[in-house]
Amino acid sequence: MNAGLEGGIDCDLHPAVPGIAALIPYLDPQWADAVAQRGVHDLEPTSYPLRAPLTSRPDWRIAGAKAGSSRGQLCAQALDGFGSRAGILNCLYAVTTLFSEDMAAAFARALNDWLAAEWLDKDARLRASIVVPIQSPELAAAEIERRAADRRFVQVLLPCLADQPLGRRSLWPIYAAAARHGLPVGIHAGSTYRHPVTPVGWPSYFTEDYVNQAQGFQTQLTSLVCEGVFSKFPTLKVVLIESGFTWLPAYLWRLHKYWRGLRMEIPWVDRPPPEIIREQVRFTLQPVDAPVEGDALLRILDQAGSDELLLFSTDYPHWQFDGQDALPPLLPDSLKTRILIDNPLATYPRLKEDFA
Ligand code: ZN
Repeated sequence: MNAGLEGGIDCDLHPAVPGIAALIPYLDPQWADAVAQRGVHDLEPTSYPLRAPLTSRPDWRIAGAKAGSSRGQLCAQALDGFGSRAGILNCLYAVTTLFSEDMAAAFARALNDWLAAEWLDKDARLRASIVVPIQSPELAAAEIERRAADRRFVQVLLPCLADQPLGRRSLWPIYAAAARHGLPVGIHAGSTYRHPVTPVGWPSYFTEDYVNQAQGFQTQLTSLVCEGVFSKFPTLKVVLIESGFTWLPAYLWRLHKYWRGLRMEIPWVDRPPPEIIREQVRFTLQPVDAPVEGDALLRILDQAGSDELLLFSTDYPHWQFDGQDALPPLLPDSLKTRILIDNPLATYPRLKEDFA
């Protein structure tokens, strides 16, 4: 165990569906039948091909199975391994890539019920995000309503890059349902590939895809601010997961500058955007995109103007760091405690009920 990480709350763990057969018992009979009759294959996130060796850290792979598909191994390596008191499961099964709204809703229901029965019921330290069919905001809100009574679901999960900017009014039923139940909305890196991940067309390499995800997050954050989501839902928290955060100071300066000049067109944004973001937006830690040497991370947080922004995460089983180096070195103890415990508890009211 890594000294100094004990008692943390891991805000980004990835359980893998072992195969589509695991979901059959949780699908409505009509859809279970459709999977059999139509020969539906496993839904795999193209951003994180689960069988690609690079997707998982070598020591967290499972021979002959997807990394993250063993609950015992995830709990041993990600929770026991880092001494975490709790962890949030963000299941990236590719429900959001389906074109059928009904099929996406059926798979989201099955996935959430599978998470409850096969993971949350089996280890009291586990919590989960509600997977929703973003293809239909109405059905997504219905799924939040259906699952919100189970307080082990602590967040609503959306993909970073889907069909449209996330601030659009058509998506507001999702934010209304999340806010009604005190659930933060987690936006995870990844794309449904309806659009290129760059603003100028398709890149060739995964390196380009991964680097450009940060632009996607900036686009979504700007959309959420400018369309007025944070003004309409002042209690809503948004967590950017695997977004990186070293871009934040320059982004805040730029957004603030143009808001000052152009705010007459968005009068509902009635206070400086950096203030809104510092209050309502959080960022998971891994992958850390700052140099680990020196005090770069501290300077970035100082420039961003808050030590409440970062939430501890390992991104298990993805390969963001080696060994036990989940936290950058040289952080003051008070900041470590904030990142590991205080900030996650302040962000997720449902975690506070059980893990404070
Ligand atoms: Zn992740």
